[in-house]
Amino acid sequence: MTKISRRLFLKRATAALATMAVAPSLASCLSDEESRKVRKIAPVVGKYDVVVVGGGPAGFISAIAAARKGAKVAIVERYGFFGGMATIGYVAPISVFALKNELVIGGIPWEFVKRLESMGGAFIEWPKANIDFDIELYKLCCQRMILEAGVDIYMHSSMVGCEMEGNTIDSVIIENKNGLETLVSKVFIDCTGDGDLAHMAEVPMQPNPDGEVQPSSFCFILSGVDTKSELLNRCMYHNGINGPSQCKPVREKLLAMKAAGVDLPDFGGPWFNNVMHEGSVAVNMTRRAADSTNNRNFSEVECQLREDIFLFTKVLKENFKEFENCYVASTAPQAGIRESRRIVGLHTVMGEEYVNAVHYEDSISRGIHPIDLHASKGTHQHRVDLTKPAYVPYRALVAPNYPNLLVAGRCISTDRQAHASLRVMASCMGVGQAAGAAAAQAVTKGVAVQDISTSELIAQLKEWGAVL
Ligand SMILES: Cc1cc2nc3c(=O)[nH]c(=O)nc-3n(C[C@H](O)[C@H](O)[C@H](O)COP(=O)(O)OP(=O)(O)OC[C@H]3O[C@@H](n4cnc5c(N)ncnc54)[C@H](O)[C@@H]3O)c2cc1C
Repeated sequence: MTKISRRLFLKRATAALATMAVAPSLASCLSDEESRKVRKIAPVVGKYDVVVVGGGPAGFISAIAAARKGAKVAIVERYGFFGGMATIGYVAPISVFALKNELVIGGIPWEFVKRLESMGGAFIEWPKANIDFDIELYKLCCQRMILEAGVDIYMHSSMVGCEMEGNTIDSVIIENKNGLETLVSKVFIDCTGDGDLAHMAEVPMQPNPDGEVQPSSFCFILSGVDTKSELLNRCMYHNGINGPSQCKPVREKLLAMKAAGVDLPDFGGPWFNNVMHEGSVAVNMTRRAADSTNNRNFSEVECQLREDIFLFTKVLKENFKEFENCYVASTAPQAGIRESRRIVGLHTVMGEEYVNAVHYEDSISRGIHPIDLHASKGTHQHRVDLTKPAYVPYRALVAPNYPNLLVAGRCISTDRQAHASLRVMASCMGVGQAAGAAAAQAVTKGVAVQDISTSELIAQLKEWGAVL
């Protein structure tokens, strides 16, 4: 009976919706009449096999993967370009594709790297295959590959709601300059990082009893830096050849200043990252605890972090000759988010099994980045290096009882330890590739995402070049 089972979830009600009979609450049961009103205000503008929400490393790769399997695909992204944290957070490099020169993550993610390299936009740091990149060419390469795959793009569009029958998602509601619009689809992939769609659909999330999450860091581009100096050449690369990637001499001096009573905010690293332009580096050093799913808290912390950017720039200028002429050329479109919601999936990857490289029958991707857990307060970072590449099971992408929803990227089902490695961008791309192929298979076969053939999925991923 439509009247009681059809539900509308809205993140926020627009003025128009607030005046309607539909209550502007998070979840409303709709009568047929109310459903018609919603359609009028949020008309259906596309019907798809697969809708991917979020165009970050997991999202853009999953959209390409699903489209290459013949699905009719749309991708929804709230910014006017793709790349997620790489381009909206100035997070670099893309970590990590290889162990001792051997690829661990292959297929479409690696194709993207090689394409970007051929455009002059990527520098591959062997033996780990950390990828330094030009942020603007990254955006261009992303959009070319998405469009070439035949994916419909909805940029400048935030997903603000979904309509459900029971646990099946019928559509997502997006908001852009046209107003509210509805995208109907057979399968949805949540690649929002924060698990926005899963949250709206009331998928249970991983418990977080102590409320601890990794801090937010606002990255920025510093220009006028002596990138030819010995210090920067030692610190700008992340291949492990020159020791840890954090810039130790700068770190030690800042810690000494702090110990001597200089009033400096907490910091991480610092990491100075190669952006492939002489004189410029992407800086990752600010750090404050933040809840990215709480608008007021995140806005307040972002303002503090912006102050920190300019404070640290002054400190660098005044204390290190390599930075004496530096200036803030650009701040990222938003502060970076390391950790927020993660679903409770059919399987939750635990740190211990991850570190021990436990293999699953449904392993669909891998990861070799260390467990890399930044403290939300202070300057500490807990790090455990992996000796063997870990595995990710398909079940970590699937919420029980939700037949047409997959998640990919940092919101998959893991504990905090496993997440602290799997959150990096190459790993998110590998998982995204699997989610896209799985979604397309579910559509072709007309089955729930829980019932696809994982052996066929794995065969497809291997055909593309995944290392499983
Ligand atoms: C400071 C910092 C440093 C890091 N350092 C590294 C590093 O050195 N190497 C590395 O590989 N990784 C690093 N990471 C981790 C990595 O950047 C992220 O974990 C990774 O980008 C997550 O990918 P994702 O696709 O899951 O999500 P994201 O990259 O966050 O992408 C999500 C996308 O969804 C969009 N979106 C979100 N909500 C909506 C919505 N409601 N509607 C429409 N669109 C939406 C966003 O705009 C975004 O484009 C770092 C992260 C941070 C914050």
